[in-house]
Amino acid sequence: MKKRRTTYFGERSTTWMAKDGNVPCSPSSVPHDPPHVRVPTTPGHKSQDMSSKKRVSYFYHGDVGHYYYGPGHPMKPHRLKLTHHLVLGYGLYRKMEVYRPHIATTQELQKFHSQEYVNFLSRVNPDMGRTLSSSVHSKFNVGEYTDCPIFDGMMEFCKIYTGCSIDGAQKLNHKITDVAVNWSGGLHHAKKGEASGFCYINDIVLAILELLKYHPRVLYIDIDIHHGDGVEEAFYCTDRVMTVSFHRYGDFFPGTGNIKDVGAKNGKYYSVNVPLEEGIDDASYERVFRPVMAKVMEVYQPSAVVLQCGADSLSGDRLGCFNLTLRGHAKCVEMMKGYNVPLLILGGGGYAIRNVARCWAFETSVLLEEEVSDEIPRNDYYDYYAPDYKLHLPPGTTENQNSTEGLEAIKVQILQQLSQIPGAPSVQMQEVPPDWATNERGGGEDEEDPDVRSSNRNRFGGERREHEAEFYDGGKDQDR
Ligand SMILES: [Zn+2]
Repeated sequence: MKKRRTTYFGERSTTWMAKDGNVPCSPSSVPHDPPHVRVPTTPGHKSQDMSSKKRVSYFYHGDVGHYYYGPGHPMKPHRLKLTHHLVLGYGLYRKMEVYRPHIATTQELQKFHSQEYVNFLSRVNPDMGRTLSSSVHSKFNVGEYTDCPIFDGMMEFCKIYTGCSIDGAQKLNHKITDVAVNWSGGLHHAKKGEASGFCYINDIVLAILELLKYHPRVLYIDIDIHHGDGVEEAFYCTDRVMTVSFHRYGDFFPGTGNIKDVGAKNGKYYSVNVPLEEGIDDASYERVFRPVMAKVMEVYQPSAVVLQCGADSLSGDRLGCFNLTLRGHAKCVEMMKGYNVPLLILGGGGYAIRNVARCWAFETSVLLEEEVSDEIPRNDYYDYYAPDYKLHLPPGTTENQNSTEGLEAIKVQILQQLSQIPGAPSVQMQEVPPDWATNERGGGEDEEDPDVRSSNRNRFGGERREHEAEFYDGGKDQDR
């Protein structure tokens, strides 16, 4: 069953279904067994409490912004440095715990990805990439004819952003924090055995697998303009993870995310797709997001929530065509924070890099309930925000092609699908598997960053709290 799919750079035809023609249900580690031990549902999800301050942990590695996909490529890890320095400029780091992550190991990556694919990514480099046969490029969907180039340090980059997401999940599992933030994560298109849409390793799936060790039900929400296909595919057949994606649907990458795709087998009705048209504005987005998420929280009662905050749904994105302002985008963050459920906040797409930084710095302030000025504070990248040096964006002039009636019909259909769910499913939770940190991160070549001070290591695995001053590497950042 072939489905036409576009890449960011053009069109290619590929299968959405697994290569054997079956509906893919990737992680073998998600149990589907019928429950016989009831795990009580966590009370207090049904209503929101907008005012309670949360303990927020922030994960950042100083190297993550140094990687480069190549000339003209829209994905620019440099945006992560801009974001981080805006967070610093607003003084937000003083209000949260700041951590440098561990570097994820190849063993950790194989909790979701195939060994063959991880081995390939570990070995390949740009020089080798030029000599590989087209069948290898096509098998793993990497190389110059795809939107996933082989660039210097590609695997290190993946291991850094994935380490941040896994560490965030572990902090939530151990109740050390209420909210964990990793703006370098959220690479939602990567598949078990192939790269897709600028994403090589799916840190989201790996973080959710970590959360599932402690949480009976994990909710994944995706507000990137593109369908969260890699995460949906991974958990398509289980009720232990509900995925909800709001995205542009039509002639648009990756081509999946039809409203009728609701999950399969035990996961039927646990995948939710909200297809939207170009030009959606703050009011229209909220009109769908709020009632759908309220119903999801009511029927599913997740014990942890992962929110992918792709910023390519903002007005003026280089690849996106929505018309959200920072305030409209951040309302989703604010709403989900109000449910008082452990929350993992991730980045994602976003190709107008100044606006990505504005968005994620503002959302950090929303999570912290700290007011920030519309005047961009002095920081290492202050000049990027010329000519107005303002935080907030005005809405663009793109026509909103989402009619009120059309959005109402989508909302009604999704609420109807959600009403098929009999109640929050419980699962058999047996022995809690150990953190990968404690039993699998020993002595390997990827195991640790030589810069990490061993004296600050803790039992949850190799990360340390970063001293705030260490984030200021002012003047050294040259790459624009
Ligand atoms: Zn995207």
